[in-house]
Amino acid sequence: MPELPEVETVRRAIAPVLEGAGLEHVEIRDPRLVRPFDPEIVAGELVGERVAEVGRRGKYLIVGFDSGRSLLIHLRMTGSLRTAERGALADDPHTRAVLRLDNGSDVAYRDVRRFGTWELFAQNELQPYLKARLGPEPLGSLSAARLGARLEGRRAPLKSALLDQRTIAGLGNIYVDEALWLSLLHPLRIAGSLDGDELTRLHRAIRAVLRKAVARQGSTLRDYALPDGAYGTMQDAFHAYGRGGEPCERCGTPLVRIVVGGRTTTFCPACQALPG
Ligand SMILES: [Zn+2]
Repeated sequence: MPELPEVETVRRAIAPVLEGAGLEHVEIRDPRLVRPFDPEIVAGELVGERVAEVGRRGKYLIVGFDSGRSLLIHLRMTGSLRTAERGALADDPHTRAVLRLDNGSDVAYRDVRRFGTWELFAQNELQPYLKARLGPEPLGSLSAARLGARLEGRRAPLKSALLDQRTIAGLGNIYVDEALWLSLLHPLRIAGSLDGDELTRLHRAIRAVLRKAVARQGSTLRDYALPDGAYGTMQDAFHAYGRGGEPCERCGTPLVRIVVGGRTTTFCPACQALPG
């Protein structure tokens, strides 16, 4: 599932194509994308809009229009965007929507599992919606103290608390496992039990792993690809995620796989020990 670095990579790739462009024609092929709304009505609403800015919040892409309205795109499991010159998009049975722009480009939204969503928001409706669902941006002004405040009093396992988008926005299974490995913290630590040093380590690790992943254009697993069909390379730099049974790069102990809150979790039982 795309996490913050993958969504940010998509944003950076599609922003130059979309920004300043008007939507000449919109085809929504899969009603599930915009349900409960009628796809033809949503498409009709979008035609004539001009893109002011392509932003991101957590794992959401935000296409902001000159009118003040916004299209909120959540890629979920397998959503992706492809861009091409007009008429040059490859035929693809997984294409769920196509935008024809007035600058000579077409943009296709592709989604194999069909969990992705498009939601159109009126001006002033988007921010309250996001605020209710998302904590602070980890690559924004988030401080270790603010991270501590988000975790304070929480009895959930640290792994689960970090996957909760209301704690901080944008982390998923991959980057939580990587951040916990880097910060030497056990995934089953009680989220509210971290001391100041541990919070500092965790804060630093989250930002470091996300920055590195953005620089590597995200991780390529299964269906994720960039809008030009290229792939990210962060998967070559994983320390923990998906490496159960392999030796820890720090201490050589085999990494262990457990399930936390229904999610497979990989960590080093020696470096990331629970406090005695
Ligand atoms: Zn280790």
